[in-house]
Amino acid sequence: MSHMVDFIRNPSMLEHFFKHFMCNSGTHSLYMDPYGNIFPCTMLNKEIGNVRESDFDKVWMSEEAKEVREFIAKKKCMCWGSCEMPPSLARNQKVVLWIFSRMLKDFLIDKKNRIFK
Ligand code: SF4
Repeated sequence: MSHMVDFIRNPSMLEHFFKHFMCNSGTHSLYMDPYGNIFPCTMLNKEIGNVRESDFDKVWMSEEAKEVREFIAKKKCMCWGSCEMPPSLARNQKVVLWIFSRMLKDFLIDKKNRIFK
C-alpha cells in the first residue's frame, strides 16, 4: 500500500498517471444515493438517472449515462477519489505491472539486506 501512497504523493507520477490512465467510474462502477439517483462516482455531480423512476438497465444505457462517460473519457474531471481509484487501477495492466515491479524490487532489496547483515 505504501507504493500506492508514494505514487499519489509524487506530483510527477501523478501527472504521468493522469496523462496516460483514465478513470473507469461510470463504466465499471457507480454511486447510488439513498434516493435512487445514480452518479458515476461520489465526486462528479452528474446524475445519469434514478432507479425509482426507471429500470436500472435503462438508466445505465441512457443518453445521459453516455454523455457522462464521454465527459469522463475526455478527462474533464480528474480527481480519482479513493473509492474509484483502486478499481480503475486494477483494470490497467501498466499500473498493475508498475506496482508489482516496485513491490518485487523492494522485496529483493529487503531479502539481500537480510542475507548480508
Ligand atoms: S475522475 Fe474523479 S470526478 Fe471524475 S469520474 Fe473519476 S472519480 Fe469521478
